[in-house]
Amino acid sequence: MSLPVVEHRSGCVVCGGELVYLARGEAMACVYCGATAESETRCAQGHYVCDACHARSAIDLIARACEKTDSRDPIDLARTLMRHPAFKMHGPEHHFLVPAVLVATWCNQKGGPERKAELLAEARRRSAPVLGGFCGIQGACGAGIGTGIFIALVTGSTPLKGPQRGLANRMTAQALALVGATEGARCCKRDCFLSLLAAVKFARAELGVKLSARGPRCEFSELNRECVEERCPFYPARASARA
Ligand SMILES: [Zn+2]
Ligand SMILES: [Zn+2]
Repeated sequence: MSLPVVEHRSGCVVCGGELVYLARGEAMACVYCGATAESETRCAQGHYVCDACHARSAIDLIARACEKTDSRDPIDLARTLMRHPAFKMHGPEHHFLVPAVLVATWCNQKGGPERKAELLAEARRRSAPVLGGFCGIQGACGAGIGTGIFIALVTGSTPLKGPQRGLANRMTAQALALVGATEGARCCKRDCFLSLLAAVKFARAELGVKLSARGPRCEFSELNRECVEERCPFYPARASARA
């Protein structure tokens, strides 16, 4: 699962492995949306991606996959989505990605999956005005803002609700403190991972909700011209990363 993403352009969308063409169709569940269909094509590890998910834009893919998933691990879910070819190395789709994976895994963990569609639609609406380049131009990384959108949504914050508004702003501040401490050129992967880790910690400490997440080994560094390599906490040790 740690193949560089550059190789995913021709093989399996999820893992980069070779595709296997079976003699006859079998029922398979799509990695992204969970829809089951008969197909002759999957990879050696069993990954199948339905035609609709193959063709989706990054934003539509995030919305669909986050609504259907039963994951409780926002970083694992984010990485699966980032591997899809519709995702650019950098771009504003990451600004929706962060609140979407957090809202989805929160609903799965808290037992409120029936609220997911409504919360995801609102996360999509609220993250849309956060344009690419906000980190360097407005001084607030869109991934960090995404964590504030998440806390505002799950606490029902409004500008008039003091405690909830306080939580949402403290969340964004904690994510941006991590993003701002790196001093590298923007990296939407690194800044998403940092923001998601901050959000998992915050949700546990302030709201008592345990989401699982670990700092990942980055598999995107070869696609990033400005990768700061050893100065990034997610940069993999060279020998093992290329295995
Ligand atoms: Zn695969
Ligand atoms: Zn699908």
